[in-house]
Amino acid sequence: MAEVRAVVARAKGEPVEVTTIIVPDPGPGEAVVKVQTCGVCHTDLHYREGGINDEFPFLLGHEAAGVVESVGEGVTDIEPGDFVVLNWRAVCGACRACKRGRPWYCFNTHNAKQKMTLADGTELSPALGIGAFAEKTLVHSGQCTKVDPSARAAAVGLLGCGVMAGIGAAINTGNVGRGDSVAVIGCGGVGSGAVAGARLAGAAKIIAVDVDPRKLQWAQGFGATHSINAREVDDVVEAIKAVTDDFGADVVIDAVGRPETWKQAFYARDLAGTVVLVGVPTPDMTLEMPLIDFFSRGGSLKSSWYGDCLPSRDFPMLVDLYQQGRLDLDAFVTEEIPLDGVEDAFHKMHTGDVLRSVVVF
Ligand SMILES: [Zn+2]
Ligand SMILES: [Zn+2]
Repeated sequence: MAEVRAVVARAKGEPVEVTTIIVPDPGPGEAVVKVQTCGVCHTDLHYREGGINDEFPFLLGHEAAGVVESVGEGVTDIEPGDFVVLNWRAVCGACRACKRGRPWYCFNTHNAKQKMTLADGTELSPALGIGAFAEKTLVHSGQCTKVDPSARAAAVGLLGCGVMAGIGAAINTGNVGRGDSVAVIGCGGVGSGAVAGARLAGAAKIIAVDVDPRKLQWAQGFGATHSINAREVDDVVEAIKAVTDDFGADVVIDAVGRPETWKQAFYARDLAGTVVLVGVPTPDMTLEMPLIDFFSRGGSLKSSWYGDCLPSRDFPMLVDLYQQGRLDLDAFVTEEIPLDGVEDAFHKMHTGDVLRSVVVF
């Protein structure tokens, strides 16, 4: 076992603290990873605010890259020294989805069985089964995806969650193709990922929609060809139609996840187009719409969980595209911060000052 420094959320709404935790040696199927970088995601803040569940204390952090330090019995696909990006979809290979050849829907993903603890033995709940605001973390070996070791950890680690969710919403769920028109509503980390994904897929028009001019500017950097400030137009739907020859976009991605934005996405779509919901709604939200509109407009209405990614397929491929200069992952890294900077990073997230703050060890 090892004693390391880590960021822990002890109680709902209270500031996080850096404290010592105990990381057990890896058991069968497990691995200990020396974390090099870990991005600060909204989901970490959500855990801290009690929005996910009540299983405090949480070990936060889940957008990480690092080097495998040790592996447990039976682990053959990775070994100490491997450079890996951590994922929260270690597919089981045995559930109905996996057996049907659709492992990106795996119903039974793996996490480490042993628990990391506080120094007094209190068991920690790792965020998304990872917990990587820690010098070392214990995960299931399937949560480690090997990628090009010469890539910059702070950039490629972000593929572990939000950026992958966005890119995948475009290329996997939305199935964006060459020449398509794509609109993305909400251009934070996930929405900017969707813009970057649409560009990778060859979309001809990429329309970024947000209320924050800084985010629209970032989206342009990732490949948006048009931008719409939702505060400055009367009607977002009409504004999207105006730049798509009055048809609407082939694919509209809602990276906000509210009934209002989803409706905009629905009506801003061309006939038989695709709506992708990748923003995460809260349990109290409901949607009321004329059913005839669903029927008469055809097309498909989808949701995208983790960008329907398969880490073993998507992470190495996207890292290679990054290394070739075709996917600007560096632009997602607004700042590098120390481990004790996470609480500050949460505040900056609220004010919209950063796309991603990344803890670098
Ligand atoms: Zn499975
Ligand atoms: Zn995340």
